[in-house]
Amino acid sequence: MSMRIGVLGGTFDPIHLGHLAVARAAHRALALDHILVIPSHTPPHRSMQPSASVYHRFAMAALAVASTEACRVSDLELLAGGTSYTSRTLERLHEAGFAPDTLVFLTGADAFAEIESWKDYPRLLTQAHFAVVSRPGWPVSQLRHRLTALAGRMIDVTNDRAPERVPESTIFLIDADTPDVSATAIRQRLLTGESLEGFVDPAVDEHIRRHGLYQRSTVN
Ligand code: ATP
Ligand code: MG
Repeated sequence: MSMRIGVLGGTFDPIHLGHLAVARAAHRALALDHILVIPSHTPPHRSMQPSASVYHRFAMAALAVASTEACRVSDLELLAGGTSYTSRTLERLHEAGFAPDTLVFLTGADAFAEIESWKDYPRLLTQAHFAVVSRPGWPVSQLRHRLTALAGRMIDVTNDRAPERVPESTIFLIDADTPDVSATAIRQRLLTGESLEGFVDPAVDEHIRRHGLYQRSTVN
């Protein structure tokens, strides 16, 4: 099997323990070499633009992955600028020499549920394998019912047994216990002065506080 590199895209505003749990679950379940964590420049499908700058979001991602050996942070979408479409990012990875069959794009089940609205759907599903990780309130099993046209490509992956040979454009479903954490909840907690313990890596917590990120008005 040639599948080797995981790709985890996101706004990471900020990166949190849910994101790291997704990376770890996919790393283990699919026996990946490593995972590229790619902060988006300008995320599509959002009414509100990110609160922290691209620089701070990248810095926090780099701090967070320092304690997760399987991860590398990538500046691909930040250097490209503009709206960050996954199909374009995967194209850039192909241009850099990664064949579609070697890539696995990782998402949480809430994000994948909207896949039909992503740019270049359904073609983008042929640009990499996809792996969907459950999120509290979003079991992966419901995706077969929600996305009936894709059900035939979905394969359940049970922990610690990586699939051997898989067809092109497979959609792996990984049922994992990821923490009930979201960036939205974290930004809210910061506004109300609540602790981030159990929500973000301690180095990210320290970065947020030192720079006064996510406060109503700060220069950072
Ligand atoms: P926001 O609340 O701003 O949308 P978020 O916490 O959902 O932030 P994103 O940057 O939107 O974070 O998510 C990036 C990817 O990580 C998405 O595919 C999302 O589904 C996934 N993800 C985020 N948190 C979790 C979690 N706790 N469990 C599983 N997947 C998650
Ligand atoms: Mg989200």
